[in-house]
Amino acid sequence: MRDNAQYDVVIIGAGLAGIACAIRLRAKGNSVLVIEKNKKHGGKLDEVHWKGYRWDKGPSLFTEPELIEELFALCNKSTGDYFEYEELNASATYHFHDGSKLTLNKNKNQLKQDLTKFSSASEAHQVLDYIEESKEMYETVGDFFISNPKPGLRNVFDKQLVKRYPKFVKKQLRSTLHNFNTSKFGDQRLVQLFNRFGTYNGSNPYQMSGLYAMISHLEISKGTFAPKKGMRSIVDSLYILSKEIGVEYRFSENATAKETKEGYLIKSTEHYATKALICAIDHIPFYEHVLQDSQCVKQYKRQERSSSGLVFYWAINKAISDLELHNMLFSKDYETENDTIWREKQNPLDPSVYINVGSTQNNQDAPDGCQNWFVMINTPANVVCDTKYRARMKQKVIDKIQLSFGIDIEPHIIHEDYWDCQGIEMDTGSYKGALYGSSSNSLGSALKRHPNRSKNHKRLYFCGGSVHPGGGIPLVLRSAKIVDSYFNE
Ligand SMILES: Cc1cc2nc3c(=O)[nH]c(=O)nc-3n(C[C@H](O)[C@H](O)[C@H](O)COP(=O)(O)OP(=O)(O)OC[C@H]3O[C@@H](n4cnc5c(N)ncnc54)[C@H](O)[C@@H]3O)c2cc1C
Repeated sequence: MRDNAQYDVVIIGAGLAGIACAIRLRAKGNSVLVIEKNKKHGGKLDEVHWKGYRWDKGPSLFTEPELIEELFALCNKSTGDYFEYEELNASATYHFHDGSKLTLNKNKNQLKQDLTKFSSASEAHQVLDYIEESKEMYETVGDFFISNPKPGLRNVFDKQLVKRYPKFVKKQLRSTLHNFNTSKFGDQRLVQLFNRFGTYNGSNPYQMSGLYAMISHLEISKGTFAPKKGMRSIVDSLYILSKEIGVEYRFSENATAKETKEGYLIKSTEHYATKALICAIDHIPFYEHVLQDSQCVKQYKRQERSSSGLVFYWAINKAISDLELHNMLFSKDYETENDTIWREKQNPLDPSVYINVGSTQNNQDAPDGCQNWFVMINTPANVVCDTKYRARMKQKVIDKIQLSFGIDIEPHIIHEDYWDCQGIEMDTGSYKGALYGSSSNSLGSALKRHPNRSKNHKRLYFCGGSVHPGGGIPLVLRSAKIVDSYFNE
């Protein structure tokens, strides 16, 4: 430890956001200390092991790897020496309730052929148009919004933004994502498929703005990628990089912070003084337990949380060849599923099921001839998945596998673990176990997200999945970049 326990920057939380921010600020020459409550780094990018099986515990979809590359480049290191990944030919395979299926291929000609076979030539044309439109929306409005500090309600009329408005006020903004998709596709299965992108930030496609149609661009056009050693290797490689350049860590510590004339005094197992403080945990528990600012707690607790999830980690003693890396098994009635989650605030009884089979990509994740299934359904934040519900859902998934693949998977599940909102909150500190902070269900929700710099406390900054620009790996990395930009001033 440094003699005087003085740092330029103290970061609370060693998840992806905290580590990315630490790398950026250390690369600028600051002394950086990261304080983490758990025994290890990584937060939601955790992993589970059991007898030769390995599962990524949280994220499974990897997009925009260039944001990771950027961190290695900042430190004059070559990404490939630390982290390897490859691009996938197809993003996911979607299985519908009527037994049909569609793989979203990155190659547009292949996709057109597949869509024509799946639906019709005119629907194929519509989908390709939609993908172009979401690309345009992303490039004109989306990227600007997520790559810059959040415009406040007052400066939303900033010149640079106004120039973009003609696109911004198109009908996407005024309709819900579902209505927008309905206006585009006659085939209800395609409406369901493109509605699903709304759930990528834990929101309700039947409430959120049609503007979020642009999310599909990231997966379909920019592409999906797979780390060669699993998602955990993203955060492991960055952790190694951060240590090499001199970032310091304290694990198993819960800190409180007090604003002082010079910055902040951090009280943990030891005391540290810092000029700048960065919150890289959910901002609500940060205000409640670290800074103890009850006004802010009250203000932010009012916002609706994004969804949570129930995840099963199944050890399968058989290899099911029909399953890809990313598989989606849709419910019969998506609107009812979302109504149950969002309006009734109940766990859904007929959920859509996402299955990720990491071992199709990394054969070391399961013994030979076996598979590691990550099985996830969306649930509301703060609604516990009790034993009865979990048993019911397990049976539902087994039935869906039977319907889509004609296989009775039950005898092949030789081990099960699970994670739900309660576990997610306990392990990572996410308020109510929400996956992505607040929801994006209302029109102004993006503008109401917590900014990356505090208005009330000097030299206090925020990054991570609960603040601007949002949750998910690419946005979390952008939040660290925005915080970094304040240190140029
Ligand atoms: C089941 C699941 C599936 C997901 N799927 C995807 C996906 O496919 N693709 C995608 O891009 N994203 C996905 N996400 C979202 C993604 O994981 C998160 O947005 C991202 O990892 C958040 O990183 P973070 O650093 O902001 O927060 P976290 O990873 O939550 O890290 C916060 C860290 O702070 C620590 N901490 C909390 N409180 C304190 C405290 N008081 N003091 C010190 N330390 C503290 C925690 O222990 C943790 O280590 C998923 C998340 C989950 C849970």
